[in-house]
Amino acid sequence: MADLKKPGEFDLIDRFRSLLKFRSPRMKIGIGDDCAVYSGPAGVYQLISTDALIENVHFRLPTTSPELLGRKALAVNISDIAAMGGTPHLALVTLGIPKTLPVKFLDGLYRGINAICQEHKIEIAGGDTTASPSHLFISITIFGETAKSQLVTRSGARPGDKIFVTGTPGESALGLKLLSSPRKQWKGDKKLQKKMIQAHLDPVPRLKESRQLMNSKAGITSMIDISDGLAQDLLHICKAGKVGAVLREEWLPRSPELERLTSLNKLEIMDYIMAGGEDYELLFTLKSEDVRKITSRFKNTKTPVTQIGEVTAHPQKVILLTIDGKSIPLKKLSGFDHFKSGKKPEKK
Ligand SMILES: [Mg+2]
Repeated sequence: MADLKKPGEFDLIDRFRSLLKFRSPRMKIGIGDDCAVYSGPAGVYQLISTDALIENVHFRLPTTSPELLGRKALAVNISDIAAMGGTPHLALVTLGIPKTLPVKFLDGLYRGINAICQEHKIEIAGGDTTASPSHLFISITIFGETAKSQLVTRSGARPGDKIFVTGTPGESALGLKLLSSPRKQWKGDKKLQKKMIQAHLDPVPRLKESRQLMNSKAGITSMIDISDGLAQDLLHICKAGKVGAVLREEWLPRSPELERLTSLNKLEIMDYIMAGGEDYELLFTLKSEDVRKITSRFKNTKTPVTQIGEVTAHPQKVILLTIDGKSIPLKKLSGFDHFKSGKKPEKK
């Protein structure tokens, strides 16, 4: 899997799904959303999701710490439960451990896992530990649940819905770029750089915001967490809902720190906002009559929630309207090559 590019990975998932023929009557949603959904007790759906992190593919030991790695391994899973409107309860941790890895490292890893579990009230229910010939791998499976009435999937967006995003996407990708090119003479305050790196190494899953959205009783019609980048993840929502979308560049939330660093280092901020990935912000669509319910609820919260566009009835047209009036298909913006700055940093 290590050398798979993203589109290849999506094809492979479709391929595996078509090979698996058995469908359980308990399964509400199988492969293809942020979590699988199966029904448990009356009124409640169970949510399951899994994520693997492989050394030198998803992380590099010299640029993180065991504690941060443990936190992130759990955070990306918690984020998937948040993206379905659910609450996580249990997780399974499977490790492939190279002989050369000191036990002290594993202690740190579990300290990080423990810290984020305490923050979000999750119990580690078990897992597996195995030897790995050379690299560390961490696979976490998370279990959560949601009231049937509160389940949100990728597929419910309808024409006329408004598109929203939490937070300010893009910082994590710049953090990864800073980590990947340590010898480059980066311009800008070290504190700002540190903030970008932290966004990459210690992302905050938007579980609290997801709960607030669900409790608002607003018509959230679809939701996804931004792991592949704003453009790519909106394309997932549009594909699942068979709808189109228009995003407006002038409405996109910009982190002031990201703005400062990209401008100082002559990088195109839109590359980071649109294609950046691993932000773990929530991208969702909302019935237009409920917009005020959400904007007033999130008016003074730490995490902003911003309207960035609208869902349309044209599945072939998922576009960004730029400030200077151009219309760019989001497919072109899901890599780092459209705006001027060149290639997307390799995910390490
Ligand atoms: Mg996801």
